[in-house]
Amino acid sequence: MLTRLRPEFRSLPEAEVAEAVLRRCVHCGFCTATCPTYRLLGDENDGPRGRLYLMKAFLEGGPAGSDTVRHLDRCLTCRSCETTCPSGVEYHRVLERVRPQAAERLGRPWRERLARAAIGSLMPRPDRVTALLDLARHFDFLLPGRLRRRLPQVPRLPSWRDTSGHTTMLVLPGCVQQVTHPGTNRGLARLLARQGVGLRAIESPSCCGALNAHLDQGNAARRLMQRMIETWERACREQQSEVPVLAAASGCGLHLREYDEHFAGSSGWAERAAAFAAAVRDPAEVLDPERVQGLAAHSPFPRIVFHAPCTLQHGLRLDVRVRELLTAAGFELLPVREPWRCCGSAGAWSLLHPELSERLLEARMAGFPLEAADAVVTANVGCQMHIATATALPVLHWIELLAEAADRRDASRNQSPETGSESR
Ligand code: SF4
Ligand code: SF4
Repeated sequence: MLTRLRPEFRSLPEAEVAEAVLRRCVHCGFCTATCPTYRLLGDENDGPRGRLYLMKAFLEGGPAGSDTVRHLDRCLTCRSCETTCPSGVEYHRVLERVRPQAAERLGRPWRERLARAAIGSLMPRPDRVTALLDLARHFDFLLPGRLRRRLPQVPRLPSWRDTSGHTTMLVLPGCVQQVTHPGTNRGLARLLARQGVGLRAIESPSCCGALNAHLDQGNAARRLMQRMIETWERACREQQSEVPVLAAASGCGLHLREYDEHFAGSSGWAERAAAFAAAVRDPAEVLDPERVQGLAAHSPFPRIVFHAPCTLQHGLRLDVRVRELLTAAGFELLPVREPWRCCGSAGAWSLLHPELSERLLEARMAGFPLEAADAVVTANVGCQMHIATATALPVLHWIELLAEAADRRDASRNQSPETGSESR
């Protein structure tokens, strides 16, 4: 697809990867049918094929301006286009490499730059997220209605201890999730304790680097990723074995699993990042389906709408696995119209594009049979918080749903979990 690469890009590894991916595109346009922003705005430049053309034009030195960056920034990086593309175009690999270059050379408005800098320094730090939420709740009367509705009720739970078992895994508590939904990791620890798996929390770094990477803050993201790899290597040395790494939030899990892409060709880090990425597991790959059987009978929410986050279905491609677990547990998964749809959260994207985000949420909710459901269930903290602003139903992580049902079952049998100690 690329023919006349700008001289300044010829030696960049980013351009090489982008060129290889762009060559696969045959311009068929199938991907536009499942692109949330194209479906919403009807502009070719706000769909995957149009964005690929824009990035190609930029790399070749063709006409490109601030409009190019605006269209690229409107992309949710949901990867729905990748699931649809019959040619296997890995769109995200082009976007992640070309957009930072385009933004650097073509510029973003100063307000946008300021917002990105603020989000990039606040959100990856749980202490700052906590302080910000406390402040926002104190002065919530000053916030616009939309933001006020998005403020999560933060449960104050006692800090939790690492759990023990015959196998130990590391878990990333998640920079936002550990503040707003600490029950998810507690639930994961309790479920895995029943399988004899102990969990150790990764205390530092507190963020996988996804937020900074999505904000095109490559250096900050790389620093977090390097620290994460070092933490994992230390744990492997201590245990004298390769320690699996879990993340309950599918957004974090996908980013951790793709560390190798971020360090490809980087001397000293490429192999280490690849080894780390290979150790990352989603909880759905670790939980034993046999052990969840019949749990729905103990849940107050047996009929559910399952919203598969984009990171789970288009990134990790594990939505089927989660559905299988929930079905094995006996939950009734109500049919969702256009299940490929993004809810409009997409990490920090919803903060940068609040109006588009609201419209995407509305479109997503319209496909949910809420009147027949007891709860909405998902797999990523961002989606969980976003969807909760649009329904009075409980919105749970699937791990919380299973863990609570398992606790109720055990309580009804008046027995404690088979193995493992009290978890966080
Ligand atoms: S579906 Fe794939 S090959 Fe077709 S235009 Fe989209 S990215 Fe290109
Ligand atoms: S990642 Fe999502 S929003 Fe971006 S072009 Fe692909 S389908 Fe559209």
